[in-house]
Amino acid sequence: MREALCSFISGGRDRLIELQRDLVAIPALGPLNGGQGEREKAEYLLLLLRSMGIRQIEEIPAPDDAVPSGFRPNLAAVIPGRDASRTFWVISHTDIVPPGDAELWTSPPYELRVDGDLIYGRGVEDNHQGLVASLLVAEAVLAGSEPPPINFGMLFVADEETASAKGLDYVLTHRRDLFAPQDLILIPDFGTADGEMVEVAEKSLLWLKFSVFGKQCHASTPQKGVNSLVAASDLILRLRSLYARFDHQDPLFFPPTSTFEATKKEANVPNVNTIPGLDVFYVDCRVLVQYDLDEIQAAVDETCAGVAADHGVRVEWEIVQEVRSAPATSPDSPIVQRMLAAVRAVHGTNPRPMGIGGGTVASFLRRQGIPCVVWSTLLGTAHQPNEHSSIRNTLADAQVMAHVLCMNDPA
Ligand SMILES: [Zn+2]
Repeated sequence: MREALCSFISGGRDRLIELQRDLVAIPALGPLNGGQGEREKAEYLLLLLRSMGIRQIEEIPAPDDAVPSGFRPNLAAVIPGRDASRTFWVISHTDIVPPGDAELWTSPPYELRVDGDLIYGRGVEDNHQGLVASLLVAEAVLAGSEPPPINFGMLFVADEETASAKGLDYVLTHRRDLFAPQDLILIPDFGTADGEMVEVAEKSLLWLKFSVFGKQCHASTPQKGVNSLVAASDLILRLRSLYARFDHQDPLFFPPTSTFEATKKEANVPNVNTIPGLDVFYVDCRVLVQYDLDEIQAAVDETCAGVAADHGVRVEWEIVQEVRSAPATSPDSPIVQRMLAAVRAVHGTNPRPMGIGGGTVASFLRRQGIPCVVWSTLLGTAHQPNEHSSIRNTLADAQVMAHVLCMNDPA
């Protein structure tokens, strides 16, 4: 059966282009991104799934007053397998991010452009590549005469780009029963260009804003003021000590340690001859699960107090964003083992389980104790102007999914 699915998928170029063309033409922007939600795109998918002959389709609307329809659509579709107690789920999201500056696009973002192996348009990679790959698998399964060994499930969620409260988070809160303990779950929404990264773990994220208050004065008479930029600079350097204090290494990750990087700096004074009285900067922390974020915050407090005392400034800091990481999916779990074997079989490469510094929707599942992997073969153009994806990669991703569906758990 696996060979039949893979050969069906390998001839899927035209179908892929057709699906991508339709999807790109239906912008699905969440209200926080200035859009009206994913309803139109979900309706397109609903009709498509029905026309494919899929009977087990469930709508899980998340109420949302911020969009005209009053809800954000989540859709679950299942093709029954011989063993109906287990499902291989592919979870993709329907929403996109805005195209940004139109000048930077060489062709209109909502019109698919095909150039050899590449297709261009907003959403073609994030997350149409994974979404379309799952549809191609479904069409391949339905074109055959026998059911797959286990169920094939597609879950299309809303609101991924703006925190998932109306998407996967909502689905898990209200329909946790959708997932059985033995289910296999793939989120094709992050990955490397060689497809070798099978993501099983994520670091916690902590974004901090620091405000250093000194006293503004003329630069020729520094003794009349307190230079906030000098104190802020010292604070930035002293915060580097977090690397030494929280130095645990986990080889699943690259880099293997927690990271603490000063990033954004707000403008202070507009002219050269004024000593600034306020400097504001930000630090992006990615923390291994071994550390509680409270420990980091205590160390930050201590560092700030030292700088305040030494420079005579007042230092305030606040949390801009905080995402505590969920326990990793075990590299030994069936979905990871199947993914590794499937990628090896299709790509002939050497995939490995890895952790990343960013946060994905996988954390919602992992927090509930549901193992899952994040994987796709991506060029990494998501959110950029001229977003594009590879037709070949998408077809290969679909073949990997077909392998996972048809495989026995490696012994
Ligand atoms: Zn995405």
